[in-house]
Amino acid sequence: MNRIKNAFLICLTILSFTSYGQYDKYFENKGLRIDYTHSGRVGIDYFTIENMKEIPFYAGSKKNLIDNTNNGAYLVSLYEKNSQNLIFSKGVSSLFNEWLSMEEAKRMCGNFEEVIIVPCPKKDMAIEIAFSKRDSLNNWKEVIRYDIDPNEIRPFETFIKKAKPSLPHVITLNNTGRTIDKRVDLVLVPVGYTIQDNEKMQRDLQAMAEFMISEEPFFSLKDLIEITAIERYSLESGIGGLKDSKVKNSDLGVQYNTFDSQRYLMTRNLWDLYDVVDMVACDAMILVCNSDTYGGGGIYNYYATCYMGNKSKEVIVHEFAHSFAGLADEYSDNDSEAGVTSIEVEPYEKNITTLVYFSKKWGDLLDTNTPIPTPAIKEYENKVGVFEGASYQSKGFYRPYQHCMMRDLTPFCPVCTRSIIDIVNRYCE
Ligand SMILES: [Zn+2]
Repeated sequence: MNRIKNAFLICLTILSFTSYGQYDKYFENKGLRIDYTHSGRVGIDYFTIENMKEIPFYAGSKKNLIDNTNNGAYLVSLYEKNSQNLIFSKGVSSLFNEWLSMEEAKRMCGNFEEVIIVPCPKKDMAIEIAFSKRDSLNNWKEVIRYDIDPNEIRPFETFIKKAKPSLPHVITLNNTGRTIDKRVDLVLVPVGYTIQDNEKMQRDLQAMAEFMISEEPFFSLKDLIEITAIERYSLESGIGGLKDSKVKNSDLGVQYNTFDSQRYLMTRNLWDLYDVVDMVACDAMILVCNSDTYGGGGIYNYYATCYMGNKSKEVIVHEFAHSFAGLADEYSDNDSEAGVTSIEVEPYEKNITTLVYFSKKWGDLLDTNTPIPTPAIKEYENKVGVFEGASYQSKGFYRPYQHCMMRDLTPFCPVCTRSIIDIVNRYCE
């Protein structure tokens, strides 16, 4: 028995050596920021690389280089050109993807800034980058592939002297004592605070960090989540986009009323935003917005936003679960069309199902005598089931629990909890 256990341990050790070896074989110990334009309309996507530069950190896991979560609407992959080996991939979603469900996306072209941070390839490596999207069955379909030309990567040393005369001032709000490749690096970015708002900004950043580690499962995982904040100031106080707003030039382009939904607080200025965070280790970011008008937003591996008011804690935990763990909304009513998909196809999000491939979802957490679908009655309260009504639809989409943070801002259901823990662990291995 012990011998088997030992053999298993040796096997695991070799596996992890191999994985670290993969990182060292292909990548430098720093990050590569790739700015690209994602444009097109329904059915057509163009990905155009605009700018590549070295950054000081690649904050993700050095072991889990290949994304096997199947999260996100798009997939960015790196291949070693000669062997065609897949050496890195990451699922992402974006505002472009949500814009596609607007009526105008059927007839006009949208043009959105996007950014992906990957480990920086070694200079002598021939590397290709591929952009993929989902087909009608939610499988990956490659859209385009480019060679990464090392001559087009701006070296870190050149732009730090010219474009970045001073490093951002960073405050640590939750210190894990772990190295950056073995922790989640969550960066808070204050938006719409002037120098005169400094005291409020410090209070709000502190409060936001506490919100993030007070709700389960984040509370139990707080030794794995490093939270830092960047001290920065805006020229104008507050956030624009509201009907009676006096704010003329919203800080970093963050605005209410995105896609005509008042509470939807987002920015399209991704490149400006990454100029703020790209000098620090960053796996995920939260934009802390200086406004007491209810609002927020969160897109997978993109960013999350939140206003500062009496429901901020629930709003940010909910939005962060979208942006960090790729979880879907479990509610059935909505004032926007964003995210609506066909009931003929199994959605890729872990916490909703159309029953097309329910076996891939949370069947293992279901009691054998729980009916599918499960009636939302007292007998099945606080039990994992398959309850109709989720993803903005009252029919055809099902959720795992009667109540959840992703439905009505109550504690996370067991399925969402499991998904969040899985993602945190991926970053920390
Ligand atoms: Zn849930």
